[in-house]
Amino acid sequence: MRSASERRELLKGVYDEARGCIACQLHETRTTVVFGAGNADADLMFIGEAPGANEDRMGLPFVGQAGKLLDRLLGEIEMDRKDVFIANTLKCRPPDNRDPYPHELEACQEYLFRQVDLIEPVVICTLGNFSTKLLRGDATGISRLHGQPELREVGPRTVRLYPLYHPAAALYTPSTLEALRADFHRLPELLALGAPPQPTPIDPVPEPAEPALESPALPQAQQLGLF
Ligand code: URA
Repeated sequence: MRSASERRELLKGVYDEARGCIACQLHETRTTVVFGAGNADADLMFIGEAPGANEDRMGLPFVGQAGKLLDRLLGEIEMDRKDVFIANTLKCRPPDNRDPYPHELEACQEYLFRQVDLIEPVVICTLGNFSTKLLRGDATGISRLHGQPELREVGPRTVRLYPLYHPAAALYTPSTLEALRADFHRLPELLALGAPPQPTPIDPVPEPAEPALESPALPQAQQLGLF
């Protein structure tokens, strides 16, 4: 079991890698990598779609109007950003806020899985259609799924996946806001259930014995010029 400070340090390591990421073309147009922000030891994680223009400029997720609504809803359940971790399916902004391409999602998903692996959230709220479809691996839409928790594997963890309407969709549609608020208010009871049982780690296949070397090889570090 990792301590909160160990999680934070390991997460910073993943962030440092992501900051230099050139795995897809989005690195050419981004201003910053929006890795995600919040508590590395959070039980509750939110996953949105992708950074928009404000997020790209500031390097933080959900800093616009949708983020303000998210803050307000968190406040209503007596939580704030320091209690949760907020990330997106993509860490870099797609130009003109177009939908992410499949190869971009594929290139980026390892970062999300590593975040989930390190943070070990109990509940993951997918925000809106995009992250819900991606994490559930099927095309069922958010209007059918919102507010219905289910156990799902996300990367290496089993979590309580809880699809919610995207706060941006609730900004101008009162009935969507009402549904989002009602779903949000059920979060404390879902969190209180605690982490679901985790998959048993698969025992690593034992390495075959090394064949004897005819002449002794240099130790790895020496070959690299490190001593
Ligand atoms: N919408 C998202 O899905 N993510 C953000 O970070 C901002 C807006």
